[in-house]
Amino acid sequence: MSRPFIGGCACGAVRYHITGEPVAMVDCQCRQCQRESGTGHTSNLVFTGATVKLEGQPNHWQSTGDGGTVKSRAFCATCGAPVYMTFPAMPDYFVIRAASLDEPERYHPQIVTWTDGAQPWDRIDPSLTTFAKMPPTN
Ligand SMILES: [Zn+2]
Ligand SMILES: [Zn+2]
Repeated sequence: MSRPFIGGCACGAVRYHITGEPVAMVDCQCRQCQRESGTGHTSNLVFTGATVKLEGQPNHWQSTGDGGTVKSRAFCATCGAPVYMTFPAMPDYFVIRAASLDEPERYHPQIVTWTDGAQPWDRIDPSLTTFAKMPPTN
């Protein structure tokens, strides 16, 4: 098995240690991600069934996506950095932000979701597979 994925918030109060491999690496240009990140998109590593160890106590807030999926977003109460996202209806899933990794170069975006919401100033790699909204679930 490869090295764990380790990272945390900007101030170091919240830390994660993930054993497993991401099943997808996704740039998302939806309006929620824009609002929450303050810029054009979020960059996310999606894990399923990974072993996650956490240090520190993040705060959480919940939002509901356009498809009705409830998302619980964890952020550091001290520095405000978003750190991870979970889904109450899908407890296997654990999603982290690429730049929260100690080695952010391990992120290699594969797909772009919600290009319908893209801002004209937010340029993405034209070689990536894009979806107007969410990719169809299989
Ligand atoms: Zn922090
Ligand atoms: Zn999004």
